[in-house]
Amino acid sequence: MVQQYYGRPKQTKKKNILRIFIFLFLLAALAVLALFSLSQHLMVQSLNENLDTLESKIDQIEEENKMLWEQYDEIYEENEKLREENRMLRSSTVINNGNRETNKVAITIDDGAHAPLIHRTLDHLKEHNVRATLFPMGSWVDQEPEVWQRAVNEGHELGNHTYSHAFLSTVSDERVREELKGWQESVNDALGFEYRTLFFRPPGMDGFTDSQGQQRERLMEIVADKGMFTILWDIELVYALRNETATVDRITRHVLDNAQGGSIVLLHFTENDIAALPAIITGLRDRGLEPCSLSELLLAEPEA
Ligand SMILES: [Zn+2]
Repeated sequence: MVQQYYGRPKQTKKKNILRIFIFLFLLAALAVLALFSLSQHLMVQSLNENLDTLESKIDQIEEENKMLWEQYDEIYEENEKLREENRMLRSSTVINNGNRETNKVAITIDDGAHAPLIHRTLDHLKEHNVRATLFPMGSWVDQEPEVWQRAVNEGHELGNHTYSHAFLSTVSDERVREELKGWQESVNDALGFEYRTLFFRPPGMDGFTDSQGQQRERLMEIVADKGMFTILWDIELVYALRNETATVDRITRHVLDNAQGGSIVLLHFTENDIAALPAIITGLRDRGLEPCSLSELLLAEPEA
């Protein structure tokens, strides 16, 4: 009887414990859920903050980008203006000499010859530590590529003297461009890289004599478009000594009598001109003048 009496309450107690467990379990699950959603919320919040920072950074970068583009446009415009000014300068300037306020005298040597004479020229220049500007025709460069390689390796400059020594006043614009391009291709081939020259010298001065104003304008436009200046001279021997025998002594004397600061001397790859070269170099130095290349002359600062 007693056992039966206590039986039922014992069952109720067990049920209560189960309910408490379920309650606690639900409570725990709820807590976990709450924590989870809280952490999600926090994560979303920090992500949003990150996004905001990123967006403001992007705005900043876009702003900077805009400014850079504006600067780029300005620089581009300025550059175009300078290029045009440069082109106009090239198309309107024939250079006969450099600044008279310097003691420099440019040595320029035209045309070309077989390798031994060119090597002899380079030997003289090397011995006296002089850089010169050489104006070979493209056809000579094709014939003797290695001597022109040596010249450039030893610090000399090459200038464009056309491919075939064409007299340009008598040929079409297209032919002039071909002659200039032909020279460029020969030199590039000989040297194995794209060679850049600022200097053009018209073969035989054709198109650039005083009576050839129209031709000169036409040719200079083409030369300027190709990025070059037209270079003549103030001392030459072919015309100056045409009525005399151009001996080594006579050549040397003519150059030294006429040279002054800023002079551009035109020699040719002939036996006598090259034989006179050492005496010309030492004679110039004796007079306080310094033989050099065209770039060295044209970029020289005036003497203080
Ligand atoms: Zn020539």
